[in-house]
Amino acid sequence: MRPPSVDSLARSLSDIDLPPPLLVDAARTAISNGQPESAREEAIRLQRALLGPAINGTGVLLHTNLGRAPLAYSQPAKSTNLEFDLDTGTRGSRNHHAANLICRLTGADAAVIVNNCSAAVTLVLAALARGRAVAVSRGELVEIGGGFRVPDVMTESGARLVEVGTTNRTRLADYKNAQETHEAALLLKVHPSNYRITGFTEETSVKALATLQVPVVVDLGSGLIDDACFWLRDGRPSWLGDEPSVRQTLEAGANLVTFSCDKLFGGPQAGVIAGRSDLVQACANHPLMRAFRPGALVLNALQQTALAYLRRDGDAIPFWRMAQTSVSDLLSRAEALSVGHIVHTMAMTGGGSLPGQQIPSVGVEFEGDISRLLRDADTPVIARVHDQTTVIDLRTVDPSDDPLVADAVASAV
Ligand SMILES: *Cc1c(COP(=O)(O)O)cnc(C)c1O
Repeated sequence: MRPPSVDSLARSLSDIDLPPPLLVDAARTAISNGQPESAREEAIRLQRALLGPAINGTGVLLHTNLGRAPLAYSQPAKSTNLEFDLDTGTRGSRNHHAANLICRLTGADAAVIVNNCSAAVTLVLAALARGRAVAVSRGELVEIGGGFRVPDVMTESGARLVEVGTTNRTRLADYKNAQETHEAALLLKVHPSNYRITGFTEETSVKALATLQVPVVVDLGSGLIDDACFWLRDGRPSWLGDEPSVRQTLEAGANLVTFSCDKLFGGPQAGVIAGRSDLVQACANHPLMRAFRPGALVLNALQQTALAYLRRDGDAIPFWRMAQTSVSDLLSRAEALSVGHIVHTMAMTGGGSLPGQQIPSVGVEFEGDISRLLRDADTPVIARVHDQTTVIDLRTVDPSDDPLVADAVASAV
């Protein structure tokens, strides 16, 4: 029997929601493997390789591989006043919408938005310290996430790293010494987001650093906006530990802070440089700014998140809504699902923030490792597997996805 033609095989897949050239690819692959009957499987494999929704049942709220903070945002296919001043009818700045709201939220004089926090740190160093020394504590020469290493970023930006103090203790005198010996352009403090040094330790406070006559930059990473967490019904949760916040770090005397928008801020992937106007302006005027600037989609989503904070509406920010859901609400959802065994679990923030801090949560548990089958569901469910049991943690699942979790479980067991 002759194998079917690529075209007719591709046409037989037309019920699958993929454009014809991709269906042809699937048909061609199946035929060249000598298995034309596998064409449908190939097409579904191509479809599942596209970017798409996945249900986060891991209990890690800011799961880096699942896109960190979840966010709903859509905009009409219309022009915007992205760089247009409606008042004067002349050119405006894309940095005057979300950035102004970030200032209002944090008390910063000025702010500029870039694509992520790595870009923010790189831009600060390139704009303010190229060819000059930057003092960093040896306890803060960290790697955060995949590949963001402070010494490497320093090299790439053209600044010269001056290490001060020791891994566990760095004093004001160490910074002062670096300032005098190397004429440091900046003192950089990096929040060691994803690890803790404990025991015989000492770090120099922002307040103390601010007494030296050199601009102090604090890379905060997580983007917790305010110590008081005024956007949450019950105020600051204990699991935030001593996580520093943007407003209070600026109040303590930092001249600039940098942070991610898709960690504890709960917004889209972006980065913020906020603080003293002349320093922010120097960053905004640097040629790299053009390469680091986000588009209107991101700025709009960021604006939406900032407005939710200003309305004190934590429930409008998906990350904070999930984080402040009560254990009793999670229990009711687990009961309503009526699959597996209901178990008490510990969720965590993840995203390289708050190591070791746990948030009481609830999950449904299944014997054996069924994670592969759950991933194969129409909307994939990503579960946690431990000791030959599979747990779907409900804190990280949007309640509107509970029926999809039930479907995935039904097809898996
Ligand atoms: C996460 C983090 C970064 C990197 O942020 P991205 O937005 O992922 O680029 C930089 N510095 C600190 C302290 C962080 O926690």
